[in-house]
Amino acid sequence: MIKKKIIKYWLLIFFFNWYIFILLYIFIHETITDYLKDIMKKKILVAGGAGFIGFHLCKKLIRNNIVFCVDNLSTGNINNVKELQNNNNFYFIKKNIQKKFNITCDEIYNLACPASPNKYQKNPIDTIKTNVFGSINLLDIAKKNKAKIFQASTSEIYGDPLVHPQNEKYRGNVNITGVRACYDEGKRIAESLFFDYNRSANIKIKVARIFNTYGPYMNTDDGRVVSNFIVSALQNKPLLINGDGSQTRSFCYVDDTIKGIIKLMNSGKNILGPINIGSTNEKTILFLAKKIIQMTNSKSKIFFNDFKADDPIKRKPDVKLANKILKWKEKTSLEDGIKKTIEYFKKI
Ligand code: NAD
Ligand code: UDP
Repeated sequence: MIKKKIIKYWLLIFFFNWYIFILLYIFIHETITDYLKDIMKKKILVAGGAGFIGFHLCKKLIRNNIVFCVDNLSTGNINNVKELQNNNNFYFIKKNIQKKFNITCDEIYNLACPASPNKYQKNPIDTIKTNVFGSINLLDIAKKNKAKIFQASTSEIYGDPLVHPQNEKYRGNVNITGVRACYDEGKRIAESLFFDYNRSANIKIKVARIFNTYGPYMNTDDGRVVSNFIVSALQNKPLLINGDGSQTRSFCYVDDTIKGIIKLMNSGKNILGPINIGSTNEKTILFLAKKIIQMTNSKSKIFFNDFKADDPIKRKPDVKLANKILKWKEKTSLEDGIKKTIEYFKKI
């Protein structure tokens, strides 16, 4: 009887020890993997991360990486930052990229620059400084850290294009002295700087030429056509078209643009760009106005203003290169994208 009890007792101790041992093992294993995961996370600097595209990019990147968002909040939104700050992988640093700074990082995305014509024309010299000094400063950080760096270039480098659709070989038709030149020429010199740093200092660069992108989290006062029309339509206010509305744009939903940007950043080391990222679904501005009125059931009327100086008449990307090299294609239809954007503006 006593013998049986002793055996039972020993068996209990034996299994209890194993239980403790297994728990201890799980605890140590989890702690070490968490620690390893943490130190293996890429450190990514996103300049312009508080803006429209930057917000969506940071939101995606913070899932698996540590993100340092550097932004002077000139057109960015502090509420975007607050939303992202709920995540421990996100750090916000208020800074103007025109001034020198350093952050230890593995990758850099440069999205810092006002993108709405109203905003970049408000202080054109500042827009040029951001593109020239800002790009140099970020490229110097890339050099110091041996980091890969992405540049958010634009369809605007093609100016008012004489080739349609625009492919990456087309060198553009920009009015050098016009009101859009601060942005167009600023972005062109930024591209030149990226390629010069690549040639002279072997910096790993990735350059995307992004075409009109829209979606939730555009500012209500951004000034670009999709947000302007949706905001006005939801308030039954007039939709103001610059010119007769026959000018065209090809609108890409932000989730698709972000996928293209990240695919390019993660592409093979010989792929530098420039690569067009955008929708090929070309529409007139008049079509867009009517579509938004219809989709919002709005009582808004359409009014016509003067045509704006140097406003490109046609715009549509040739995305064969992105299709082939990045296996990238837009997925969201204009209808679905506009619907999601309307829902967002209804809520705020
Ligand atoms: P946005 O204006 O919403 O975002 C730009 C961000 O950069 C803002 O948060 C702003 O505060 C910040 N910024 C501006 N100047 C800065 C400076 N000197 N220092 C630090 N931060 C600064 O514009 P977006 O639509 O999100 O565009 C992002 C980038 O993508 C821009 O570089 C733009 O040129 C490029 N791009 C956008 C589109 C588009 O359709 N949205 C098309 C082509 C290219
Ligand atoms: N546009 C318009 N009404 C607006 C805003 C823009 O007619 O309230 C026109 C603008 O003149 C241009 C097109 O819509 O022809 C796209 O303008 P946006 O500012 O969105 O971007 P862009 O492609 O010109 O940089």
